[in-house]
Amino acid sequence: MEDNLHEWCLLEYCHIATFINPHHLYFTNLSKSSEMSLKNSEILKEANLLTENITNINLSMDKICLLDPASNQVLEPTDGDSFEYFLFGGILGDDPPRDRTAELRRLGFPSRNLGAMQMTTDTALFVTNKILEDKTSINQIPYIDFPEIKIDKTESVIMPFRYVAIPDAHQSTLQTTNNEMKQNIVPLLPSGMIDLLKKDGDMAFEF
Ligand code: SAM
Repeated sequence: MEDNLHEWCLLEYCHIATFINPHHLYFTNLSKSSEMSLKNSEILKEANLLTENITNINLSMDKICLLDPASNQVLEPTDGDSFEYFLFGGILGDDPPRDRTAELRRLGFPSRNLGAMQMTTDTALFVTNKILEDKTSINQIPYIDFPEIKIDKTESVIMPFRYVAIPDAHQSTLQTTNNEMKQNIVPLLPSGMIDLLKKDGDMAFEF
């Protein structure tokens, strides 16, 4: 985890705990203030909240797989047999990506990628879980890059990340030009993200 826990990240981590049992989630390298924020969340207080750095926990490095867009191997369903832990950078996404996953890469963990395009942390966990638990290949998971999210009648924000695509619950089907009915899709976002976007705009990605 990076030092400051951004509100965006907190929403992403709460989202993660809706599809991964919080008892199976370990947050490491937590600052005291981030630890407090996670403890104040009803869903995340059940997770393992550690102030220790990943290198100070007594785990064998070859059982830990770093998820890294720059890895030269794609994550495969069989990787669930060789690794016990999957490690993600607790980093707010940025545009252009600053490759802060490099801090973990330098420690020498074996690694896998989910494609070269930057995902949000909750998306990276969702996709990893789907590949390992459902034994799905990454090519079978639908995604949307750079989705444009409408925040009111006149404004929208382009999110500079890859998201998993899900059917739009509000607009079930669309008619295409050749009269086919097509399901409208939307990015899978953490609950509360659209409200936060309304509050913050796209300021958070620019450095
Ligand atoms: N721009 C960030 C960076 O500087 O590395 C990307 C951080 S991303 C929001 C947070 C974490 O999600 C990464 O550290 C990585 O563990 C995981 N992740 C995101 N996209 C990924 C991909 N395409 N392949 C593998 N892991 C990914």
